[in-house]
Amino acid sequence: MKLLLVEDERDLSRALWAILRHNNYTVDAVYDGRDALDYALAESYDGILLDVMLPTIDGFEVLRRLRAEGVKTPVLLLTAKGEREDKIHGLDLGADDYVTKPFDMPELLARVRALTRRGKDYSHSLLKLGDLELNKSTFELCGPNGSIRLAGKEFQIMEYLLAVPGRVIPTERFMERIWGYDCNSEINVVWVCISSLRKKLVSLGTNVKIRASRGVGYSVEVEQ
Ligand code: CA
Repeated sequence: MKLLLVEDERDLSRALWAILRHNNYTVDAVYDGRDALDYALAESYDGILLDVMLPTIDGFEVLRRLRAEGVKTPVLLLTAKGEREDKIHGLDLGADDYVTKPFDMPELLARVRALTRRGKDYSHSLLKLGDLELNKSTFELCGPNGSIRLAGKEFQIMEYLLAVPGRVIPTERFMERIWGYDCNSEINVVWVCISSLRKKLVSLGTNVKIRASRGVGYSVEVEQ
């Protein structure tokens, strides 16, 4: 699941970013309305967390323009004021939900889960290939021999691979999308995760394999 986080208070943004990443979301963070529009129009997100009071373009205007452009990505408004008029205004502009600062983190995470479920068929929470299933709600990977709950990065790699079976994903793309701002990481973190996932696939007894294309990247396929 990929989220866009739009919040200009750096400390709050960092805290939210860390918590969301810890909960297995891929997160792009931007700090003003103009960047929010650029990112939301250029990339496909599963949800947008949008602060209302923002530099350059405020959150309401960002929301209005996104909906005017036909972007239907679910939006959770982060409102500081907690004023009734603001909430109504936001919902009228096409927001899906709102939370009032200061946030109760478990509640925020529950709302993000609800948000990213919205508008999608429930079956979307399951990714299937061959005799393998990845549950995007519980992070469980299931095969003929049972199931294993995947941790953060491994879950995100598996989710990415299973979303485009057969397609080779370059190693750099995993870095970019999953490690993102943790730019201190070296590319071998990807190899470590892939190697661990391969062992798990073997122990699950599945016919799905992660294939390496030397010097390029990885893909998943069903072994005949
Ligand atoms: Ca703000």
